[in-house]
Amino acid sequence: MCIASEPRRYKPRSTPRQKKGYQGASCVCQKCQNDARFVERRGRTITCLLGGIRVRRPYYHCAVCSEGLSPWDQELGLSKRCLSPAVAELSSLAGTVSSFAVSAKRMLLKMTGLRVSESSVERVTEDAGARVGKLLEDRIKFGADREWKWQRDALGRTCAYASLDAKCVRRQGPKASRVEGRMAYVASIYNPDSEYDETQKKPHQSRYLSGFYELNELGLQLRRQAGQVGWDKAEVQIALSDGGNGMEQFLRRNFPLATIIIDFWHVKEYLVELAKALFADEHERQSWMDRHAPMLKHEGGPAVLAQLKEIDPGPIAATRELYRVTVQYFENHQHKMDYPSYVKNGWQIGSGPIESACRTVVGDRLNGSGMRWGNDGADALCHLRALFLSEPDQWDAFWEKHRN
Ligand SMILES: [Zn+2]
Repeated sequence: MCIASEPRRYKPRSTPRQKKGYQGASCVCQKCQNDARFVERRGRTITCLLGGIRVRRPYYHCAVCSEGLSPWDQELGLSKRCLSPAVAELSSLAGTVSSFAVSAKRMLLKMTGLRVSESSVERVTEDAGARVGKLLEDRIKFGADREWKWQRDALGRTCAYASLDAKCVRRQGPKASRVEGRMAYVASIYNPDSEYDETQKKPHQSRYLSGFYELNELGLQLRRQAGQVGWDKAEVQIALSDGGNGMEQFLRRNFPLATIIIDFWHVKEYLVELAKALFADEHERQSWMDRHAPMLKHEGGPAVLAQLKEIDPGPIAATRELYRVTVQYFENHQHKMDYPSYVKNGWQIGSGPIESACRTVVGDRLNGSGMRWGNDGADALCHLRALFLSEPDQWDAFWEKHRN
């Protein structure tokens, strides 16, 4: 296939020598806005869904930048790797879902018959992820604003949920050296199923953001996601976390009207650990838990704290320390442990959805056996996984408008 004419947008500037052919014609260099000289029609093989296609297109050279350029490549939406937009999206989709090797050697080959190298899949996937990150930073939204039909609680009020957690990603330093893992945040706005809402037949809706974020920036971006799906229209706003460092401040700062709840199961785990230290006897331990776990749910954190303060942790230093830490934890977080009210209202008291998002968004793809990542690659994959696992219109809107 030969592309015979040049695109209108890059109409060559006429010069006295133009009649002799393309020699002397020029186009505007996108980098420096100077004239770039026409050199020749240069051939290039493009990988499109039907396989490789050879094209010849005008090639220019900018003397100021000392660089060659071919405006047609941009016009056709070609990636730097000579992949058509459809192949770039498919390669990124494969690279988002599975390892780059499996994507190249199995998925793309079996599903499309295309041979795209592992390094091309890696590059094009990471480029796309970096683009998602940059667009989010530039406050670009994907898709139209669409208010969710929020689920209703036991009192019939509409409820919106937000949550934040973090997951460690294994990293690789320069020259394959080992460096410490880094925490990738996963934040979500979601509309879970409700047992009190029979009208809500929609599947669970979620928006995710993930990457090596700085918390202030993540907050700005999460608020935009929330705004896009009508967070402010919900009658009740709920923010859940496991009580990790800085999580409560993050949720309070970004969602000041939300009720902050600390994950019930994390709190219960503190009691389980304390029971193990306090009671050597299995039956004693179990009977203590049988009293205190229901108390946490039906009477709340302050009631359990009052009980804890009655305990004598005994002489063993490790037990005394664990006891001290547990009491302090309850003192610090008891205002987010009003589980009797939350349950009565029909609200969720577990941060299960964000914990499972940490697995699906980050863990399942980035923490495979033997996988180690550079900062940029991991950050890019987190953005792309979060986009892919959010509502499908998010992925589609990104690829429709920002394919290169
Ligand atoms: Zn230039």
